[in-house]
Amino acid sequence: MHWQTLLQKSITQPAQLFAHFGLDPGDLYRVTEIYPMRINPYYLSLIKQPGDPLWRQAVPDSLELDDTVCMEDPLNEEDLSPVANLVHKYPDRALFLIHNQCAVYCRFCTRKRKVGTKDMPVSLKTINAGLKYLQQTPEIKDVLVSGGDPLLIDDSSLDFILSRIRAIRHIDIIRIGTRVPCTLPMRVTKKLAATIKRYHPVYINTHFNHPNEITPEAATACNRLADAGIPLGSQTVLLKGVNDDPEIIKRLMYKLLRLRVKPYYLFQTDMTKGTNHFRTPIAKGLEIMQSLIGHVSGMAVPTFAVDAPGGGGKIPLLPNYIEKMGSQLVFQNYCGMTCTYDNPCH
Ligand SMILES: *Cc1c(COP(=O)(O)O)cnc(C)c1O
Repeated sequence: MHWQTLLQKSITQPAQLFAHFGLDPGDLYRVTEIYPMRINPYYLSLIKQPGDPLWRQAVPDSLELDDTVCMEDPLNEEDLSPVANLVHKYPDRALFLIHNQCAVYCRFCTRKRKVGTKDMPVSLKTINAGLKYLQQTPEIKDVLVSGGDPLLIDDSSLDFILSRIRAIRHIDIIRIGTRVPCTLPMRVTKKLAATIKRYHPVYINTHFNHPNEITPEAATACNRLADAGIPLGSQTVLLKGVNDDPEIIKRLMYKLLRLRVKPYYLFQTDMTKGTNHFRTPIAKGLEIMQSLIGHVSGMAVPTFAVDAPGGGGKIPLLPNYIEKMGSQLVFQNYCGMTCTYDNPCH
């Protein structure tokens, strides 16, 4: 089925979903009035039973309305936007939001306040304003095209935007942040891969959170992109009840490498209002990192990071391997064995 037809057949109302699984929708419509739901038939087909790790990512939960801890805009993106839908936080890179919809509305979305709602107007006008800002800001060398999901726009619009970005002399690399290889892999057509390929160097960071998302369809999508010379990364989010387990993350990271997707970040869940029930203690992430580092291929080890509330940026966190640092460094290896290294003092 064509990807646009699949999108149209998405489930958007709790009653439809529960008709599918034979459960009572209760008052979940109160959640979807605020935070939209969309589960396309492909992703729906991967949900095996209510409450499983894919269900939790896609199906609304009344806990979304009970969050009294988190914030609408934890990364302070609105204040860091010189023009609408463009976040300029780090000097040399900018985040450019070119679409307001996704193939699945992830319940833990960091832009839950606006993605899929009227509060995120994207138009030719906002896109042209973003392009103009990029043209006029020579310190920007790396543009992250995101959204919503930027690959849900049609091929010719994407071609237009990528060509305009590529025409800016000071921009070295383009990155696309997209979840479609995971949530709607049929979107990755040969034509799409050929379109993106014209604007190299382009990197794609996709987003897989559970081994059940690695399917033959996802493999085809990732292969197509990798064969077009596009380096692929994954920005996985650590989520309670989904993947907060060293064995699950290990399996996921290896499966990603087999698709030529390099694990890039493992994110601590942002403090986004409506997502508090997904947050895990920092110690859980550190435990997972300790179970990976040295024990699995270094290629399978992402950087565990917290995106600091208030717009402080991504801060990497590592388990502590250092016991003492003086004229001699005393540290532990991955098995807990004590090692030393003579520390030059000049
Ligand atoms: C995450 C992010 C980036 C990119 O950060 P990297 O560490 O380079 O991947 C850039 N801008 C914003 C606003 C971001 O949130």
